[in-house]
Amino acid sequence: RTVYVNGDYLPETEAKVSIFDRGFLMADAVYEVTSVLGGKLIDFEGHAVRLKRSLDELDMAEPCTKDELLEIHRKLVELNDIDEGLVYLQVTRGSDGDRDFVFPSEDTKPTIVLFTQNKPGLADSAAAKVGAKIISIEDIRWGRRDIKTVQLLYPSMGKMMAKKAGADDAWMIEDGHVTEGTSNNAYFVKDGVIVTRPLSNDILHGITRKAVLRMAEEAQLKVEERLFTIDEAKAADEAFTTSASAFVMPVVEIDGVALGDGTPGPIAKRLREIYLEESIKAAV
Ligand code: PMP
Repeated sequence: RTVYVNGDYLPETEAKVSIFDRGFLMADAVYEVTSVLGGKLIDFEGHAVRLKRSLDELDMAEPCTKDELLEIHRKLVELNDIDEGLVYLQVTRGSDGDRDFVFPSEDTKPTIVLFTQNKPGLADSAAAKVGAKIISIEDIRWGRRDIKTVQLLYPSMGKMMAKKAGADDAWMIEDGHVTEGTSNNAYFVKDGVIVTRPLSNDILHGITRKAVLRMAEEAQLKVEERLFTIDEAKAADEAFTTSASAFVMPVVEIDGVALGDGTPGPIAKRLREIYLEESIKAAV
């Protein structure tokens, strides 16, 4: 693979970041994942805007302009011959060559790294045809989940708890209400109404969430943004998650309870189709 590090396109084996980098030592870093379909970027604009917001919230410098970012994404997709896959982007606060809790001086250069992941069959996903099994776990993450930091240890552990339980993923619960999935936003559908948690500092403001809610409303589907419990989701007709890397993923089981007939629900399937069709059309 050819990767991008601080201005250079290099073979992945030659790419280097300092061991003192605050991304490495302190998870002082933010990221974005943009999907690629037909060699084009899905909702690049949304990801660029959220990246800027994450950087601003953490007083981190922008490593380059939005146009340069688009150029880097496109060049990596081309150099790595990606038809379907992902572009991962990470920006860290960099390093001044030592470890300290105090931020380095403002003129410290941020570190920017991008790489691609080739994922043939991303759109026509076998997993989406079967649907995901979910377990619920406690949400013990920090209070600024709206900032897309690389503090992914607990979500990663959550995914492992799910695997161990024979499931695919976990939804997290705080104060009795579902926050989100380990790497996706969470929804259920009851009597034709799509329910999902409202935006706040408690969840990531999903780029796919925004697009899917807009498309749902355009399709005259009812959407309610409100807090919900895992028991409501278990009693639902269907459920699904959204993320840039899995689009709309039907959920067929929660904590061992099958939803509906235990296969992907009609609204989740329809939203997946609409999302793929419209976002491929708008891809850049
Ligand atoms: N919530 C969390 C915790 C996530 O990690 C992700 C994926 N990065 C999402 C939601 C979905 O966001 P998006 O649609 O922008 O990928």
